[in-house]
Amino acid sequence: MNARIQILQADITTLDVDVIVNAANPSLLGGGGVDGTIHRAAGPALLEACKKVRQQQGECPAGHAVITEAGHLNAKAVIHAVGPVWYGGEQHEAALLEDAYRNSLQLAEANGYRTLAFPAISTGVYGYPKAAAAAIAFTTVDRWLASHALPEQVTFVCFDEDSAHLYARLLSQQGN
Ligand code: ADP
Repeated sequence: MNARIQILQADITTLDVDVIVNAANPSLLGGGGVDGTIHRAAGPALLEACKKVRQQQGECPAGHAVITEAGHLNAKAVIHAVGPVWYGGEQHEAALLEDAYRNSLQLAEANGYRTLAFPAISTGVYGYPKAAAAAIAFTTVDRWLASHALPEQVTFVCFDEDSAHLYARLLSQQGN
């Protein structure tokens, strides 16, 4: 078991962590699912911050991530990570999903954040099969933690019970 990984079934906006990750879309201008919930909870300051990033660097392609302030959230920052749309697995979806997780971890580290929470990126509207996505998320984070001090603690936030079970199994099997 990796003591630096935690699994929670919750609404990610309620967590008390340094940084929460948003499953954003390339526009960075909000959307449905967890993105909509995060923007509603954070208030208009988050959208303003996203618009600023958008003006500076344009769209955020799949696999990439940007960091902004967190508005009214308990978190100090939001990392907007863009996962791939699932097209059946032959469009580099796995590599792009791994990139989305790794680039988020890198941003958290670069900003000195100690605690971070991920939603199950790409597994909603983007259609990535949940078990395959959980395996990539878990392996990428587990590998990162093996060679980095930050973030100290990573929480996988699952919205539904099935996903929580998927992650719990990965943690008990693969963790160190
Ligand atoms: P994507 O477009 O990347 O697929 P979605 O927001 O549609 O993003 O879904 C990503 C995952 O986030 C889904 O598994 C969904 O169940 C989950 N989710 C939705 N709302 C929340 C929330 N408030 N907190 C945590 N996870 C959530």
